[in-house]
Amino acid sequence: MLFQEHHATNKQKRIQLSMVVLLLVSLFFSAIPVKAAEGDGYSAQEGQDLYQKLKTGKRLQGEKTYEAPEQPTVYLTFDDGPSKLTGQVLDILEKEDVKATFFALGEQSQAHPELVKRIVQDGHTLGNHSYNHVYKELYSDFQTFWDQIQRSEDVFAGIADVRPQLVRAPGGTYTNFDAYYYYLMDQAGYTVVDWNVDSGDSKRSRVPVNEIWQTIKESPLEHEINILFHDGSGHESTVEVLPQVIAYYKKLGYAFAPLTTQVKPKQFPVGKSKWSRNMSLVHFQELLKETQLYASAHPLMPDNNPNDAINLLVHQTKVATEETAQILSKQSTVPLQVHVVDGSSFTLEPTEYQLRANRIELPLRFLIEKLGGKVEWQENRKTANAHYGVYDVEYDLSARSIRLYSLGNSVATYSLADMNLQNGKIIVPLRKTIDLIGGRITNSVIEPDKREVSMAFRQFYMFRENNSLLKNSLFALGG
Ligand SMILES: [Zn+2]
Repeated sequence: MLFQEHHATNKQKRIQLSMVVLLLVSLFFSAIPVKAAEGDGYSAQEGQDLYQKLKTGKRLQGEKTYEAPEQPTVYLTFDDGPSKLTGQVLDILEKEDVKATFFALGEQSQAHPELVKRIVQDGHTLGNHSYNHVYKELYSDFQTFWDQIQRSEDVFAGIADVRPQLVRAPGGTYTNFDAYYYYLMDQAGYTVVDWNVDSGDSKRSRVPVNEIWQTIKESPLEHEINILFHDGSGHESTVEVLPQVIAYYKKLGYAFAPLTTQVKPKQFPVGKSKWSRNMSLVHFQELLKETQLYASAHPLMPDNNPNDAINLLVHQTKVATEETAQILSKQSTVPLQVHVVDGSSFTLEPTEYQLRANRIELPLRFLIEKLGGKVEWQENRKTANAHYGVYDVEYDLSARSIRLYSLGNSVATYSLADMNLQNGKIIVPLRKTIDLIGGRITNSVIEPDKREVSMAFRQFYMFRENNSLLKNSLFALGG
C-alpha cells in the first residue's frame, strides 16, 4: 500500500530531500538568470511594464474567489498583543463560544509565548502584525516591512508551528501601503486585511468603556463586519466592553467567525502615501525575486491554522445541507475551460463538473489525471490517494477528511464537508484541491454562458527553465 511504502522509504526520502535542499541553496546563491528569477513567467520586459504600472499608484491584483457566509458574520480582531490582557480576552471568548482573530506582534509574542499557543489551541486565527509596530521602520521601504513580517513569522512558527497567511498592516494600509507593497505581499501569498468597523479603542490612551460602546452601536450593520480592537497593554476598557459587544451582535443574529483566507478581506483603497519612498526598478526586481522565492518555498495551504479548516467545515456543512436539494438542478450546460499557467489547458464537458453556489466540483481522479498526477482508490479503506508533485493528498471519504503529505510526511489533516461519492466517483471542490496540491486559482469566470478557470502552481515557477534536474527531483519525491 502506498503509505506503507512511504514509511519504508523515509530514510531514502530524507536523503533525497537533503539533496533538494542543497540544490535549492546552491541555486539561491548562484547567479540566477534574470528571466528565471522573475518567477511567475515574467520576461524582463514584462517586469519593467509591471514596475511602470505599479508606479502609477494603481493596484494590480489577481482575481480571487471568496466564500461569503450565509449568516451575517462578525469577525472580531485584536491587534498589538499578546499582552497580559490577552488571557482575559481569551477567557471571555471561550465563555461566549466565539472565535476571533489576533494580529500579534512578533516582539510581544516572544514575551508571551504561552498566549500565542493558547490563541492557536483555542481555535482562533493568528495573524501577523509585524515585529515591532514602528511605523517609520515599516513604511520607509518595503524591504523593512518584509523583514519584519518574516521575523514575526519565524517567531510564530517557533512557538506554535503556524505561519500566518493573514497580515494586518500597523496603522492600516491607507496612506501607508502603496501599489508596490500590495503587489509584493500578494506575490508572496499573504492576504492583507484592514477592517470596516473601528471600535475606537486606540484613538488615544485609556478610551472609556462607554465611548467604545457608543462607537460600536453607531457602526453600520453590514453583512460581514470586521471590527478592530486592541489587546495590547492599556486596553482594559476593551476587555471590559467585550461581553456586551458580543451580546449585542448575537442578539442581532450575527454569527462570529475567525478570519481565514476564504473570507473576502476588508481593504482600504490605496491613498496617497504619507511616506516618501523611492522604488527603483532594480530594487523592485530584487523584492519581486525575494517574495516569489518565499512563495515557492511556502506553497499556499488552505489555511495554516488547521482550526480555520474546522471552522470552515462548520460553515460549509450548513451551506452544503441547504444546497443539497439544488445540486441536481444546477447541472451545468456549459463546458468549463481550464488553463494551467505555463502548462496545459483542457476542457471539462458539462457532464464532467458541477456548480454548487458558484463552487466548481468535479471528480478527483479526472482532475488529478488531467494535471498529470495519479490517483489510487483504496476500496477497503474508502480512501483515495492523489499524487501530484511533492504532495500526496489522501481523501478519506468516511471521515470526510483530507490528510496532506509533503515528501511523504504527514503535514496536516483538514475536514471537508463538501466531499461526496456520486456514481462511484469522489467529487471534490476544485479550489480546495488545487490549494492542497500547491497551486492556486488565479482567475475564474462563472457566467451563464462562459466558464473559465485559471490556475498556477508555484513550486515550479522558479526552476522550470533553468534547472530541469531539480524539477525532476521534486517529481521523483512525489512518487
Ligand atoms: Zn496595531
